[in-house]
Amino acid sequence: MLPTAHTSIGFLISQIKIKGKSLSTLEIIFVVFCANVFDLDLIYVYLGGQTTYHHLLVSHTPLFAVGLIALFTLIFRLNWRVALLGFVAMLSHFVLDDLCYWLYLFGITEDGKPEIFWLFPFDPRREEALRLYSSLRPTVGGFLVSYIKHPLFIFEWIFLISATSVFANKYSSLLKKVFFKR
Ligand SMILES: [Zn+2]
Repeated sequence: MLPTAHTSIGFLISQIKIKGKSLSTLEIIFVVFCANVFDLDLIYVYLGGQTTYHHLLVSHTPLFAVGLIALFTLIFRLNWRVALLGFVAMLSHFVLDDLCYWLYLFGITEDGKPEIFWLFPFDPRREEALRLYSSLRPTVGGFLVSYIKHPLFIFEWIFLISATSVFANKYSSLLKKVFFKR
């Protein structure tokens, strides 16, 4: 899915209160970053460092997420609430990336292939995927043209509208000050 969907879901996850405590603004930004971090591998792919379809890279696996959140926790000395929500946001990235396949499994869409290999390195489907579509490398334009016609695109709007309404509600007084000088 697009960064807007990952950001929207990341923001909604950052609003979960654990033991009645909300996250600070900096912690919210961190959780939203966690929801997007895996797509940074696209930079590496498009700079030519990698020819494999980016969903098939190790950087798009839950195992990588476990290592990454452990590393972030150590480096930034995260408290457990932030680390937990950051990790949930990371997992949400994979759910969204695999959503097209799940819709296909439920018979909602006509096409779909596994995008996330949840049990990596023991997921037997990955070998076949590497053989069949490791060279997939859609251009941004080509991807967007086909994507906006896909049923999955509706979810982009649902997530964006949900997150925007929560954001507007939370920061309504700030938004009024900025836009209406009240
Ligand atoms: Zn992704």
